[in-house]
Order: sequence, then structure tokens, then C-alpha cells
Amino acid sequence: MTLQNYYQATQKVSLHTAPLDGDITTDVAIIGGGITGVSAALHLAERGYDVALIEAEHIGWGASGRNGGQALPGFGAAQAKLKSLVGAEHAKKLWTLSIEAVDLLHSQIQRLNIPCDPVTGYLHAAIKPRHLRELHEMQEDAAALGTPLGRILVGEELRHRLASPRYIAALEDPIAGHIHPYNYTLGLAAAAQKAGAKLYTQTRVQSLEPGPTITIKTTRGTVRARFALTAGGAYLGDLMRPLAGYIMPVGTYIIATEPRADVARLIPGNEAVADQNFVLDYFRRSADDRLLFGGRVSYSTLPPPSLKTSMLARARRVFPQLADARVEFLWGGNVDISQNRAPHFGRLTSNILFMQGFSGHGVALTGLAGKLAAEAIAGQAERFDLFAAIPHARFPGGRTFRVPALLLATTYFRLADML
Ligand SMILES: Cc1cc2nc3c(=O)[nH]c(=O)nc-3n(C[C@H](O)[C@H](O)[C@H](O)COP(=O)(O)OP(=O)(O)OC[C@H]3O[C@@H](n4cnc5c(N)ncnc54)[C@H](O)[C@@H]3O)c2cc1C
Repeated sequence: MTLQNYYQATQKVSLHTAPLDGDITTDVAIIGGGITGVSAALHLAERGYDVALIEAEHIGWGASGRNGGQALPGFGAAQAKLKSLVGAEHAKKLWTLSIEAVDLLHSQIQRLNIPCDPVTGYLHAAIKPRHLRELHEMQEDAAALGTPLGRILVGEELRHRLASPRYIAALEDPIAGHIHPYNYTLGLAAAAQKAGAKLYTQTRVQSLEPGPTITIKTTRGTVRARFALTAGGAYLGDLMRPLAGYIMPVGTYIIATEPRADVARLIPGNEAVADQNFVLDYFRRSADDRLLFGGRVSYSTLPPPSLKTSMLARARRVFPQLADARVEFLWGGNVDISQNRAPHFGRLTSNILFMQGFSGHGVALTGLAGKLAAEAIAGQAERFDLFAAIPHARFPGGRTFRVPALLLATTYFRLADML
């Protein structure tokens, strides 16, 4: 599969970075230049910290520069799951923080003038009666949490908002929306740089030695730091062995059609859309009138065979109007799934923080995560600790058997998708 990322082809923010060249000392070292890392760099630099961010490839190379751009409140884990993990009060505070994450995303885009095409509006789509019941539950839960969603659309009204025969209903969500995630990531990075953060790219961290001063060995020199934050998402690999078993990297894929005059008629309100399946379809219009359509998963992270054809077939199942559509871009990336689908934040030692496990739900939350990391490093860890207190388990079978264990679990959900 030739991977070609639509977002990189439509980059609007220019950013100049270079590899690390020799040994340096800093207050805070951040590993990973996705939204989590660059947001932490921005917030720390604005607080006056000396920051060095180290990225193995380029800023936005990982999931942050590849995702569906759907910016939602909430988490990969449903609110009911969070309640069962931490109790109702605590789960409510987490929900409120997730709403703050979406607000922060929009306020940063405005404050920093980031050209990333922000749009507000979202439709949660139902394919079958079970999904419709879930939409009603979602509507009731959101109202009980003090952040009511919109109406459930059916029939003609639904067809006017979402010109697809595949759905029986859709729930309006006035909080969620979509952005161009790569330009957003680069915009935050440029602001971090302007605030004084040093961004080192093409520099891979090879080891971290804990201590009052942390020693970080990279391919281009050594960084000594008082604090470190690891924000490598699904791409951290074995760098932090104690963390690796908590996360499963899973591949997911997106196509972009050619720009089409009829795309605006498919979703006239320009909402982002996702269905309620476990292996879900998620899609939206781009600013240049393409359909960006995401779906499919790979638990081995190897692209499935005939991906382009199967992705286009999925898009046409939703929109038969795309019978003559072409795929101009096809790309994929890895999401960092935690076993319970809740974010996995914490401390490896008192001065090494980690943030991972966004479980395919990180576009908005990663920005807030970076802010919470900055707060924690500055000594105000209450909000960070609300996340750090969520209990997590390793994938059963340890690292070697993570894939088979996840496959067994997901086979059940795939079957459920068919019912
Ligand atoms: C195809 C796809 C679609 C998605 N769609 C959505 C969506 O629509 N909505 C949503 O909310 N979420 C979505 N997600 C998830 C979302 O993109 C992620 O949760 C989020 O971007 C994670 O950001 P991050 O900064 O934590 O990690 P990343 O953006 O993955 O960044 C991690 C960075 O760390 C670097 N790194 C790793 N190891 C090292 C090392 N040893 N040394 C130096 N650097 C290192 C990597 O090179 C990488 O650039 C999607 C993800 C994918 C892949």
C-alpha cells in the first residue's frame, strides 16, 4: 500500500525544526511531538519552564497528523464504564474535563490563529435498533451530566441532514466537531516554539535513566532534565517497558476522495459523523469538498489487503452517490488502545510522567492532557491525578500474547456489530 496522507498534502502551517546536536540540560524533557507533547511544551514554556521536546520523526508524524480530525468530548470508554471504574462523582469530573478539552481546542485555535478549519457539529448515527437505544441513553446521560446534546433525527429530517440510506437515526451533538488535525498540531508546535520551547526532530530517544536528574540518551546526544513526560502514544514501543503491556497499538485507515461538487449535499450541515459499531465508520467533509472516510482496523498494525477497494466499498455503502468516486489519498496510523479504553496517565517515578491510552479518542483530550501535565509539573496535580487514579490492567497474556488476547475480545464485538 502506498501511504499518502491528505493532511500533509494540505499543510498550511510552516514549522522549522532541527535534530538535537550534542548534549543539553533542561527543566523538562518531552518525548513525542504529537498533540500531547506539543501542548505540554506550549503550556510549560508559557509558564516559564525551559523545555526540550524530542521527536523521532517530525512534528505531527504520529496519530496526531493522521487522524479523522473528529474532536469529541468523552473517552474511548463509555461514561458507564468510567462510573464502574471510579464512581459516579469522579466520573462526572472526568466528563467535565473532557468538555473543557473541546473548549480548550477551540480557544487555542482562536488565540493562536491556527488555520485548521474548525467546524462545530456532529451526528452520532444509528444503523440498527440497538444503536438507536444507545443514542437515547447517550442523550439522557449527557443531559444528566449537565451538557445536553441535541435531537434524535429520523425519517425525512434525517435524510436532509445525512443523505444516506444506511442509517435509521442520528443524534445531534452541538459540542463535538472537526478540524484539520495536522495543521492544528503544527500550529500548537509553532506557538510552543515562539514561547521558547526547543523542538528537536529526527531525534529518537533510546533510553531514560531515572533519578533527581533524568538522563535521556538519544540518537543525537544526551538530554539531562529535572522532569520528563513521555507522550509517544502508540509509537513508544518498548522504550518504557513498564508501560508497554498496558497499551495495544491498533491500525486504522482513512481515504479521501477527489474534491466533488456533490459532497456538500451528502452532509449539508458539515457535521462529522460516526456510527455506533465497535469497528466503526467515521467520516466528514474536508474544507476542499472531499469526503474523508475512516474505518477498518488492523490488530497486527499491518494494512489489510485490498484496503483501497474495501474502504471505497464501505464509503459507497454509506453513500451510494459516490459510485464514480476516486480515492486520491489513503493513509493509516496506529491508535493506543488501553484495555478498558480509558486514558492511561500516571507517574513512573516522582519526576517522570506518562500519558497514553487515548483509545482513538484523543483529538481534543490530548490538548488538555498537555495542559494537565504542565500543571502537575508546576505542582498542581489535582486534575492530572483525577486521570492517574483510573485503574488499568495490562493486556492479558503479557506483551507477547497481547494481540491474540485482544483478537479474542474483539471477535465478540465484531459479532455484536453484525447483530
Ligand atoms: C487513523 C486515525 C484516526 C483517528 N481518528 C480520531 C478521531 O477522529 N478523533 C479522535 O479523537 N481521535 C482519533 N484518533 C486518535 C488520536 O489521533 C490520538 O489519540 C492522538 O493523536 C494521540 O496523540 P499523541 O500526541 O498522544 O500521540 P501521537 O500523535 O501518536 O505522537 C506520538 C509521537 O511520539 C513519537 N515517539 C514515539 N517514540 C519516540 C521515541 N522513542 N523518541 C522520540 N519520539 C518518539 C512518535 O514519532 C510520534 O510522533 C485517530 C488515530 C488514528 C491513527
